[in-house]
Amino acid sequence: MKGVIGIDVGGTKIAFGAVSPAGEIVLRRTIATHPDDSFDEGIARLSAGIEALLAETGWGAGDIGGIGIGCPGPVDTERGVILSVYTLPGWSNREFAAPMSERFGGTPVRLENDANAALLGEALAGAARGKRSAVMLTLGTGIGGAVLLDGKIHVGANGAHPELGHVPALAEGPECPCGLRGCYEVIASGPAIAEAGEAVGLDGSEAVFAAAAKGHAGAQAIIDNVAKATEAAIWTILHTFLPEIILFGGGIADGHWPLFEAAAQKSLAAATLARDQGVTIARAKLGNDAGIVGAANLVM
Ligand SMILES: [Zn+2]
Repeated sequence: MKGVIGIDVGGTKIAFGAVSPAGEIVLRRTIATHPDDSFDEGIARLSAGIEALLAETGWGAGDIGGIGIGCPGPVDTERGVILSVYTLPGWSNREFAAPMSERFGGTPVRLENDANAALLGEALAGAARGKRSAVMLTLGTGIGGAVLLDGKIHVGANGAHPELGHVPALAEGPECPCGLRGCYEVIASGPAIAEAGEAVGLDGSEAVFAAAAKGHAGAQAIIDNVAKATEAAIWTILHTFLPEIILFGGGIADGHWPLFEAAAQKSLAAATLARDQGVTIARAKLGNDAGIVGAANLVM
Protein backbone atom coordinates (compact mmCIF):
# COMPACT_ATOMS: atom_id res chain seq x y z
CA MET A 1 0.00 0.00 0.00
CA LYS A 2 1.36 3.40 -0.99
CA GLY A 3 -1.29 5.36 0.88
CA VAL A 4 -4.99 6.17 1.07
CA ILE A 5 -7.37 8.77 -0.33
CA GLY A 6 -8.85 11.39 2.00
CA ILE A 7 -11.92 13.40 0.92
CA ASP A 8 -13.24 16.53 2.64
CA VAL A 9 -16.75 17.32 1.40
CA GLY A 10 -17.78 20.94 1.91
CA GLY A 11 -20.79 23.01 0.89
CA THR A 12 -18.92 24.82 -1.88
CA LYS A 13 -15.97 22.56 -2.66
CA ILE A 14 -14.75 19.02 -2.25
CA ALA A 15 -11.04 18.75 -1.44
CA PHE A 16 -9.33 15.38 -1.75
CA GLY A 17 -5.83 14.11 -1.62
CA ALA A 18 -3.50 11.14 -1.81
CA VAL A 19 -2.15 10.72 1.73
CA SER A 20 0.94 8.77 2.80
CA PRO A 21 0.80 6.40 5.80
CA ALA A 22 2.63 9.12 7.80
CA GLY A 23 -0.27 11.51 7.19
CA GLU A 24 1.42 13.65 4.54
CA ILE A 25 -0.64 14.87 1.62
CA VAL A 26 1.28 13.73 -1.46
CA LEU A 27 -1.03 15.49 -3.91
CA ARG A 28 -4.28 17.38 -3.41
CA ARG A 29 -7.04 18.55 -5.72
CA THR A 30 -10.29 20.46 -5.33
CA ILE A 31 -13.51 20.35 -7.30
CA ALA A 32 -16.60 22.54 -6.90
CA THR A 33 -19.43 20.84 -5.01
CA HIS A 34 -22.30 21.97 -7.32
CA PRO A 35 -25.04 21.43 -4.72
CA ASP A 36 -27.65 21.35 -7.50
CA ASP A 37 -26.07 18.30 -9.14
CA SER A 38 -27.81 15.05 -8.48
CA PHE A 39 -26.06 12.74 -6.05
CA ASP A 40 -25.13 10.36 -8.88
CA GLU A 41 -23.58 13.21 -10.91
CA GLY A 42 -21.67 14.31 -7.80
CA ILE A 43 -20.30 10.81 -7.21
CA ALA A 44 -19.33 10.48 -10.89
CA ARG A 45 -17.44 13.80 -10.88
CA LEU A 46 -15.71 13.00 -7.59
CA SER A 47 -14.69 9.54 -8.82
CA ALA A 48 -13.31 10.99 -12.04
CA GLY A 49 -11.33 13.50 -9.97
CA ILE A 50 -9.85 10.73 -7.83
CA GLU A 51 -8.97 8.68 -10.89
CA ALA A 52 -7.12 11.70 -12.34
CA LEU A 53 -5.34 12.21 -9.00
CA LEU A 54 -4.26 8.56 -8.90
CA ALA A 55 -2.98 8.78 -12.47
CA GLU A 56 -0.92 11.84 -11.52
CA THR A 57 0.60 10.22 -8.44
CA GLY A 58 1.26 7.02 -10.38
CA TRP A 59 -0.68 4.99 -7.82
CA GLY A 60 -2.65 2.06 -9.24
CA ALA A 61 -5.98 0.89 -7.82
CA GLY A 62 -4.09 -1.80 -5.88
CA ASP A 63 -1.84 0.80 -4.23
CA ILE A 64 -4.55 2.47 -2.16
CA GLY A 65 -5.52 1.04 1.21
CA GLY A 66 -8.90 2.71 1.31
CA ILE A 67 -10.92 5.89 0.94
CA GLY A 68 -11.96 8.04 3.90
CA ILE A 69 -14.63 10.73 3.57
CA GLY A 70 -15.44 13.60 5.93
CA CYS A 71 -18.89 15.21 5.43
CA PRO A 72 -20.83 17.98 7.12
CA GLY A 73 -23.84 17.04 9.22
CA PRO A 74 -24.71 13.79 10.88
CA VAL A 75 -23.56 10.63 9.13
CA ASP A 76 -24.32 6.98 9.68
CA THR A 77 -20.78 5.63 9.91
CA GLU A 78 -21.98 2.00 10.01
CA ARG A 79 -23.93 2.16 6.76
CA GLY A 80 -21.79 4.85 5.08
CA VAL A 81 -24.77 7.15 4.58
CA ILE A 82 -25.00 10.95 4.86
CA LEU A 83 -28.12 11.56 6.97
CA SER A 84 -29.12 15.15 6.38
CA VAL A 85 -27.00 17.92 4.97
CA TYR A 86 -28.79 21.20 4.48
CA THR A 87 -25.94 22.43 2.24
CA LEU A 88 -26.28 19.35 0.00
CA PRO A 89 -29.95 18.41 0.06
CA GLY A 90 -29.70 15.88 -2.80
CA TRP A 91 -27.05 13.90 -0.92
CA SER A 92 -29.15 13.17 2.17
CA ASN A 93 -29.93 9.56 2.98
CA ARG A 94 -27.89 8.33 0.05
CA GLU A 95 -25.38 5.54 0.31
CA PHE A 96 -22.01 7.15 -0.23
CA ALA A 97 -19.51 4.49 0.85
CA ALA A 98 -20.83 1.53 -1.16
CA PRO A 99 -20.79 3.08 -4.67
CA MET A 100 -17.34 4.59 -4.04
CA SER A 101 -16.01 1.22 -2.92
CA GLU A 102 -17.49 -0.45 -5.98
CA ARG A 103 -15.96 2.14 -8.29
CA PHE A 104 -12.49 1.57 -6.79
CA GLY A 105 -12.24 -2.20 -6.87
CA GLY A 106 -13.87 -2.93 -3.52
CA THR A 107 -11.43 -0.83 -1.47
CA PRO A 108 -12.67 -0.06 2.08
CA VAL A 109 -14.55 3.25 2.29
CA ARG A 110 -15.44 4.96 5.56
CA LEU A 111 -17.49 8.04 6.26
CA GLU A 112 -17.28 10.41 9.23
CA ASN A 113 -18.61 13.78 10.30
CA ASP A 114 -16.21 16.56 9.21
CA ALA A 115 -15.54 17.96 12.71
CA ASN A 116 -14.57 14.45 13.82
CA ALA A 117 -12.41 14.01 10.71
CA ALA A 118 -10.54 17.27 11.47
CA LEU A 119 -9.68 16.03 14.97
CA LEU A 120 -8.56 12.65 13.57
CA GLY A 121 -6.28 14.60 11.24
CA GLU A 122 -4.77 16.56 14.12
CA ALA A 123 -4.36 13.29 16.05
CA LEU A 124 -2.51 11.63 13.15
CA ALA A 125 -0.24 14.42 11.98
CA GLY A 126 -1.05 17.67 13.78
CA ALA A 127 -1.19 19.28 17.22
CA ALA A 128 -2.79 16.26 18.95
CA ARG A 129 -0.29 13.74 17.58
CA GLY A 130 0.27 10.90 20.05
CA LYS A 131 -2.53 12.01 22.39
CA ARG A 132 -5.10 9.49 23.63
CA SER A 133 -7.67 12.12 24.61
CA ALA A 134 -8.37 15.45 22.94
CA VAL A 135 -11.19 17.91 22.38
CA MET A 136 -11.26 20.16 19.34
CA LEU A 137 -13.39 23.27 18.92
CA THR A 138 -13.73 24.69 15.43
CA LEU A 139 -14.84 28.32 15.39
CA GLY A 140 -16.04 29.56 12.03
CA THR A 141 -19.54 29.98 10.63
CA GLY A 142 -20.68 27.89 13.60
CA ILE A 143 -18.86 26.21 16.45
CA GLY A 144 -18.20 22.53 15.96
CA GLY A 145 -16.78 20.17 18.51
CA ALA A 146 -15.17 16.75 18.41
CA VAL A 147 -14.00 14.51 21.21
CA LEU A 148 -11.28 11.85 21.09
CA LEU A 149 -11.35 9.41 24.03
CA ASP A 150 -8.89 6.56 24.44
CA GLY A 151 -7.69 7.15 20.88
CA LYS A 152 -11.16 6.90 19.35
CA ILE A 153 -13.72 9.48 18.26
CA HIS A 154 -16.50 9.61 20.84
CA VAL A 155 -19.86 8.86 19.24
CA GLY A 156 -23.00 9.95 21.06
CA ALA A 157 -26.41 8.32 21.42
CA ASN A 158 -27.98 7.25 18.14
CA GLY A 159 -24.67 7.96 16.34
CA ALA A 160 -24.94 11.71 16.98
CA HIS A 161 -21.82 13.76 17.68
CA PRO A 162 -21.34 16.02 20.71
CA GLU A 163 -22.67 19.59 20.37
CA LEU A 164 -19.96 21.59 22.11
CA GLY A 165 -21.12 24.77 20.37
CA HIS A 166 -24.20 24.61 22.59
CA VAL A 167 -22.63 24.40 26.05
CA PRO A 168 -23.92 27.27 28.21
CA ALA A 169 -21.47 30.15 27.93
CA LEU A 170 -23.15 33.43 28.87
CA ALA A 171 -26.36 33.41 30.92
CA GLU A 172 -27.59 36.75 29.56
CA GLY A 173 -26.46 35.99 26.00
CA PRO A 174 -28.66 36.07 22.89
CA GLU A 175 -31.14 33.37 21.97
CA CYS A 176 -29.76 30.42 20.01
CA PRO A 177 -31.60 28.69 17.12
CA CYS A 178 -31.44 25.53 19.28
CA GLY A 179 -33.96 27.18 21.64
CA LEU A 180 -31.63 27.99 24.53
CA ARG A 181 -29.98 31.26 25.46
CA GLY A 182 -26.28 32.10 25.62
CA CYS A 183 -24.85 29.00 23.91
CA TYR A 184 -21.15 29.32 23.01
CA GLU A 185 -22.02 29.39 19.30
CA VAL A 186 -24.28 32.47 19.52
CA ILE A 187 -21.49 34.46 21.21
CA ALA A 188 -18.25 33.40 19.53
CA SER A 189 -18.97 32.14 15.99
CA GLY A 190 -18.24 34.49 13.06
CA PRO A 191 -21.91 35.28 12.34
CA ALA A 192 -22.62 35.81 16.08
CA ILE A 193 -19.80 38.37 16.39
CA ALA A 194 -20.95 40.04 13.16
CA GLU A 195 -24.54 40.25 14.40
CA ALA A 196 -23.49 41.79 17.71
CA GLY A 197 -21.32 44.22 15.72
CA GLU A 198 -24.27 45.35 13.59
CA ALA A 199 -25.95 46.70 16.72
CA VAL A 200 -22.99 49.06 17.26
CA GLY A 201 -22.67 50.04 13.59
CA LEU A 202 -19.91 47.64 12.55
CA ASP A 203 -19.97 45.52 9.43
CA GLY A 204 -18.67 41.96 9.85
CA SER A 205 -16.79 40.02 12.53
CA GLU A 206 -13.35 41.24 11.38
CA ALA A 207 -14.51 44.85 11.69
CA VAL A 208 -15.49 44.12 15.31
CA PHE A 209 -12.05 42.69 16.13
CA ALA A 210 -10.32 45.62 14.40
CA ALA A 211 -12.48 48.26 16.14
CA ALA A 212 -11.95 46.60 19.55
CA ALA A 213 -8.18 46.75 19.02
CA LYS A 214 -8.52 50.51 18.37
CA GLY A 215 -10.49 51.12 21.56
CA HIS A 216 -14.10 51.17 20.24
CA ALA A 217 -16.09 50.60 23.46
CA GLY A 218 -18.99 48.74 21.83
CA ALA A 219 -16.64 46.41 19.97
CA GLN A 220 -14.58 45.82 23.12
CA ALA A 221 -17.72 44.75 24.99
CA ILE A 222 -18.47 42.18 22.24
CA ILE A 223 -14.92 40.82 22.31
CA ASP A 224 -15.02 40.70 26.13
CA ASN A 225 -18.10 38.51 25.82
CA VAL A 226 -16.29 36.24 23.34
CA ALA A 227 -13.48 35.85 25.90
CA LYS A 228 -15.88 35.23 28.81
CA ALA A 229 -17.88 32.72 26.79
CA THR A 230 -14.66 30.93 25.83
CA GLU A 231 -13.64 30.72 29.49
CA ALA A 232 -17.03 29.20 30.35
CA ALA A 233 -16.96 26.70 27.47
CA ILE A 234 -13.42 25.60 28.33
CA TRP A 235 -14.45 25.26 31.99
CA THR A 236 -17.18 22.79 31.02
CA ILE A 237 -14.92 20.87 28.63
CA LEU A 238 -12.10 20.66 31.19
CA HIS A 239 -14.31 19.32 33.95
CA THR A 240 -16.28 16.96 31.71
CA PHE A 241 -13.47 15.32 29.74
CA LEU A 242 -10.19 16.31 31.39
CA PRO A 243 -8.53 15.79 27.98
CA GLU A 244 -4.77 15.77 27.44
CA ILE A 245 -5.21 18.58 24.94
CA ILE A 246 -7.86 21.10 23.90
CA LEU A 247 -7.44 22.37 20.35
CA PHE A 248 -8.87 25.44 18.70
CA GLY A 249 -9.32 25.52 14.93
CA GLY A 250 -11.34 27.43 12.34
CA GLY A 251 -10.97 30.92 10.94
CA ILE A 252 -12.16 32.87 13.99
CA ALA A 253 -9.86 31.12 16.50
CA ASP A 254 -6.96 30.97 14.06
CA GLY A 255 -7.18 34.65 13.14
CA HIS A 256 -7.37 35.80 16.77
CA TRP A 257 -5.43 33.10 18.57
CA PRO A 258 -3.98 35.25 21.42
CA LEU A 259 -7.52 36.10 22.59
CA PHE A 260 -8.67 32.47 22.66
CA GLU A 261 -5.44 31.20 24.12
CA ALA A 262 -5.55 33.76 26.97
CA ALA A 263 -9.21 32.98 27.77
CA ALA A 264 -8.63 29.22 27.75
CA GLN A 265 -5.46 29.51 29.87
CA LYS A 266 -7.31 31.72 32.37
CA SER A 267 -9.99 29.05 32.70
CA LEU A 268 -7.40 26.30 33.09
CA ALA A 269 -5.50 28.27 35.76
CA ALA A 270 -8.70 28.76 37.78
CA ALA A 271 -9.85 25.13 37.47
CA THR A 272 -8.38 23.76 40.69
CA LEU A 273 -9.51 20.20 39.96
CA ALA A 274 -8.07 20.15 36.45
CA ARG A 275 -5.09 22.47 36.30
CA ASP A 276 -2.47 20.06 37.67
CA GLN A 277 -3.27 17.26 35.23
CA GLY A 278 -1.04 18.52 32.41
CA VAL A 279 -3.83 19.64 30.09
CA THR A 280 -2.48 21.55 27.09
CA ILE A 281 -4.32 24.30 25.23
CA ALA A 282 -3.17 24.56 21.61
CA ARG A 283 -3.97 25.84 18.17
CA ALA A 284 -4.84 23.26 15.52
CA LYS A 285 -1.93 22.86 13.12
CA LEU A 286 -3.24 21.45 9.88
CA GLY A 287 -5.74 24.17 8.91
CA ASN A 288 -7.70 23.21 5.81
CA ASP A 289 -5.64 20.04 5.41
CA ALA A 290 -7.04 18.53 8.64
CA GLY A 291 -10.19 17.34 6.85
CA ILE A 292 -8.29 15.43 4.17
CA VAL A 293 -5.70 13.98 6.56
CA GLY A 294 -8.37 13.03 9.11
CA ALA A 295 -10.56 11.39 6.47
CA ALA A 296 -7.48 9.44 5.38
CA ASN A 297 -6.88 8.41 9.00
CA LEU A 298 -10.31 6.69 8.96
CA VAL A 299 -8.90 3.99 6.71
CA MET A 300 -5.28 3.90 7.92
ZN1 LIG B 1 -27.68 26.51 21.19
